[in-house]
Amino acid sequence: MSDTPVPGDSTPPATGRVGGDPRHDADEPRVERRAMLVTVAASIAVALIVVLLVATGVIGGTTNAGERHQRVEDDRTAGAAEAAPQRPEIRDEEVEAVVAARSRALAEHNVDAFVAPIDPTAGELIAEQRRLFANLALFPFAEARYTVSNQPPRSVSDSGRAAVMVVVSFVHRVEGVDPVAIAENYRWTFDRTSAGGPLWMTAVSTAPYGGVMYPMPWDQTALVVERRPHVVLAAAVANKAEAATWADKAEAAARRDLDAWRGPRLPVDRFVVYVTPDRRTFDEIASTKGRGPAAGVCVSLAPLTLTDGKQTRQVGCRVVVDGAGKGFATSDDAIFKQIVEHELGHAMVAGFAPAWTEHVSWVAEGFAESLPWSDPRMANKYNPTARAYVNDGRFTGRLPVDGEIHSADPATTSISYHLSMQAIRFLAEEFGTDKAHTFVAEVYRDASRLDAALTAATGLDRAAFERTWARYVKDHPGS
Ligand SMILES: [Zn+2]
Repeated sequence: MSDTPVPGDSTPPATGRVGGDPRHDADEPRVERRAMLVTVAASIAVALIVVLLVATGVIGGTTNAGERHQRVEDDRTAGAAEAAPQRPEIRDEEVEAVVAARSRALAEHNVDAFVAPIDPTAGELIAEQRRLFANLALFPFAEARYTVSNQPPRSVSDSGRAAVMVVVSFVHRVEGVDPVAIAENYRWTFDRTSAGGPLWMTAVSTAPYGGVMYPMPWDQTALVVERRPHVVLAAAVANKAEAATWADKAEAAARRDLDAWRGPRLPVDRFVVYVTPDRRTFDEIASTKGRGPAAGVCVSLAPLTLTDGKQTRQVGCRVVVDGAGKGFATSDDAIFKQIVEHELGHAMVAGFAPAWTEHVSWVAEGFAESLPWSDPRMANKYNPTARAYVNDGRFTGRLPVDGEIHSADPATTSISYHLSMQAIRFLAEEFGTDKAHTFVAEVYRDASRLDAALTAATGLDRAAFERTWARYVKDHPGS
């Protein structure tokens, strides 16, 4: 094992990075209101200028009453051709028609229809959306469609232009992976520059749903997708040559994790794994900047029905691994397996948790890390940093707290992951894997029942468990 094992990293929703703190959405309307205020202020300013110009005779003013009356008569008889220019506007039904047309284009595999609503001069957007379409076609969707979200549209309109920004949900369910539909939100901008002129889509950006902000794998780069019974693996086209091998390895990791599970029935047994082509892409999707050298994350998913209060369970998570990281830089499979088995471990149990839950880190990371560390092929491995920590007498005998597990210091993180792994592995070895995995599922279901779940699994209270685990750690320093 390398000196500092690259820890995987889950993405607990409460961090707000990908999880589900609904408060994150609260910023949205504020931005919107500010934009509206600016518009209103601008309108008032324009109105004042018009009043001033009229009052000072710059506009109108010199004609007498008779002439003004005559002009009105003339306008009436001249009809529409002479009328003041109409303000361009965008009706809700028009936007809804475009959204429906793009859903149809997806279903009918018609890329030209998919990009038809886009402004023909927006070459970059057209290329992006063609790439998105091609990527989506590679995934086995049981459901894939666009709907207008219930968030109010933002509109900007003046005499020369109407623009509206609409939040649109990409409602989707990957076959065999997602037990219920997921919503990924985008903000689509529509423009009309003259009354009666064409309506064009001019911009697409990401938007949060239930506090969850993606991008999803299909948003970033041209992909290849490999399907296996338990894995749908996406990689960049640049990694086409390696993708099938990675998918085979990920499938083996998934099978090992699923075979090892002894707890209650798992919510899912197939997973989307995305291998990013470079670190920048990984950071963009995983938002791990400043969070240490994570090699993988499990990005929480928000169910479509989250915001209506009916669905309170998390759907699961998408596994994202850094294809430029250690696990991919060597022909030694050990690091790849460790990272993928760890992240798939998070994905296996994620669906037990309520949405917006805060995981108990030593349980979440300890369980995920226990999967590769219980692999017989890891028999002679050890973590030198954790071994030195215990042998040097720095070990406090306390279970790691969240701040240690998610420390910015890689050594602290490495040690804390290892100690957490030893807590779950000790629980399995001493009391049975079924007890250990049931404990993990129970803590995911309700973190506030940690102590009760621990006692149910071991017959010990937390202090007694900690004491016996600490002896185990000293007997197995770093291994
Ligand atoms: Zn993790």
